[in-house]
Amino acid sequence: MRPSQAGATELPNLDAILPRLNDQMRDDDIWGEVADYIPELARIDPRQFAIAVVLADGTLHSAGDADTPFSVQSVTKVFTLAIALGRIGDQLWTRVGREPSGRAFNSIVQLEQEQGRPRNPFINAGAIVTTDAVLGNRQPREALAEIVQFVRTAAGTDDIHINNKVAASETTFGHRNFALAHFLASCDNLTNRPEMTLGTYFHHCALEMTTVQLAMAGRFLVDAPGLPRLVTPRRIRRLNALMLTCGHYDGSGDFAYRVGIPGKSGVGGGILAIVPGVASIAVWSPGLNRYGNSLKGTEALASLARQMSWSIF
Ligand code: GLN
Repeated sequence: MRPSQAGATELPNLDAILPRLNDQMRDDDIWGEVADYIPELARIDPRQFAIAVVLADGTLHSAGDADTPFSVQSVTKVFTLAIALGRIGDQLWTRVGREPSGRAFNSIVQLEQEQGRPRNPFINAGAIVTTDAVLGNRQPREALAEIVQFVRTAAGTDDIHINNKVAASETTFGHRNFALAHFLASCDNLTNRPEMTLGTYFHHCALEMTTVQLAMAGRFLVDAPGLPRLVTPRRIRRLNALMLTCGHYDGSGDFAYRVGIPGKSGVGGGILAIVPGVASIAVWSPGLNRYGNSLKGTEALASLARQMSWSIF
């Protein structure tokens, strides 16, 4: 049917849907709370929203504050996991599990109950072990250079940097992460000094990217012939499986229920979500829900997935 015909069903058109979604998100004045345990992030204005989508054909579509850099935080754990698996392969799984934790991202209690083997590579304890594997016996500077280069290659731009002020802010107030790292060390699950591994972890979490850059960086997880391939298809499937089951911490079940695609969130308010074979999506809105995941970002993804029929279920 031609679109002009009365009652015609229009094909979903992203260039119409994304600006509408942006307007809807701004109409409703409930933005959630910014992360305040990292003072540099507590200063961010929560009233911001952006969305960007790269389709399998390589086209980019975006709306909102999509060129504003933000702190990527835990979304970088997808990239560090890809690098760690590239370096030590399945050996990583002797040190970290692959099950959802059902606990907050920075929970301490489960780590002791399970003898210092974190449930999965996305909760903080698991990401600290993964960072330790990326570090190997190198200096933090070398490992960070590899991580930044991986992200730049994935995004197709060199204009991506670490914000040292954010890293310093988290180092000063990162008492929970220090507790987790020292507990891991007490269980012989760190090969480097806790301060070295944590320094590397805080710095990669402090990477800044725009929403457009993040959607571009996610292209390698889509597994489409026209998009860059940085890891094998088998590894892509496994990374997506972990994002679906563990990418939103104790909100992972709710995200799968509401959105229905793999996603990884960060306390900077960013989410990278993948529609396998179809699209890489990034959303950003700094206000968080009770699980520490972007409130508007989750809502926007739920709405987009519904409108595009993108749930994998
Ligand atoms: N750097 C943050 C922390 O360790 C990352 C947490 C997150 O984004 N969920 O607390």
